[in-house]
Amino acid sequence: MNSEVDQFGEVSQVVLVIDDSIDVYRLLSARLKGEEFSLIGEQGGAEGIASAKEKKPAVILLDLDMQGMDGFEVLRELKDDPSTMHIPVMALSAMQSRQDKVTAFDLGATDYICKPFDLVELRVRMRSAVRLSVLLQMLSQRAQIDGLTGLFNRAHFDSRWREEVARCQRHGHQLSLAIFDADRFKSINDTYGHPAGDAVLRGIARVLRREIRASDLACRYGGEEFCLIMPDSSPEDANHLCDRIRQGLGEIIWPLHPERRVTVSIGLVGSDGTLHTDAQAWLHQADRNLYQAKNSGRDKVVRSMVVSGVSKAA
Ligand code: GH3
Ligand code: MG
Ligand code: MG
Repeated sequence: MNSEVDQFGEVSQVVLVIDDSIDVYRLLSARLKGEEFSLIGEQGGAEGIASAKEKKPAVILLDLDMQGMDGFEVLRELKDDPSTMHIPVMALSAMQSRQDKVTAFDLGATDYICKPFDLVELRVRMRSAVRLSVLLQMLSQRAQIDGLTGLFNRAHFDSRWREEVARCQRHGHQLSLAIFDADRFKSINDTYGHPAGDAVLRGIARVLRREIRASDLACRYGGEEFCLIMPDSSPEDANHLCDRIRQGLGEIIWPLHPERRVTVSIGLVGSDGTLHTDAQAWLHQADRNLYQAKNSGRDKVVRSMVVSGVSKAA
């Protein structure tokens, strides 16, 4: 079950310290108690990158002169990866040369602190970086939320969908995608007015939020269309879920028009983990199934397996 809070996600207040000397992390953890941010530490570049991807910290404090994978390399990798490129990185280094500072900033660092550092100064710089990061996280979340329904919007869907298709392909996971379109929705607006139409859209969003699993993602795709990403769902399971939602929606008595039910048509495509195509082709196939659902009487799910660019009936 998904709550509205889940849809808004969380704002991180964690600072990830990547330094091959455990002393730096120990010193900071001991002396930065009582701050609004918390600290986690990694002692190697590769571990630091993995932790950044998994924990999505607010800020990274990165030692540039580490054994093995050096900090510049770590910085380059963090800034090359879409999932970590937006995390502000404060570089920490015993190197005082102007060229090192210029290189770090050119690679995307937001601050450069020289070792040995002054703890009071480091503390205020970290506070300021975390504060800014929290604001940016909140702004970017708001930009991805649809104002009417509180669901994620099309922009968020587009980026998440590309990620999910890539993940499904990489790991051979099952994946399903559904497009929901309210039936004869224009006539609700025309008969009962726009506010009644808006209430229906909010109601559909509420049902989607309530029925899906925490790992599923519901978005308002635009107008009266909604998309549902179901990672690790077989096409059969996805079909079950979509059909349950379809039935549930059809049974709702709407306060502004109790005499008029609202149904949805659903185009569904799924992969068992062996079938792959690109993100856009998935959408085309789901859309084609939706079109079939509309043309064969509405209030139904039409599904198929996704097959490299072409859709075949399941
Ligand atoms: P079909 O069963 O073929 O999908 O018919 P339909 O009437 O649902 O489809 P159509 O595309 O003709 O109409 C969609 C309507 O959705 C038209 C548009 O005014 C309305 N709409 C889009 N966004 C909103 C919104 O935010 N609020 C309201 N109230 N209506 C909206
Ligand atoms: Mg439509
Ligand atoms: Mg419609």
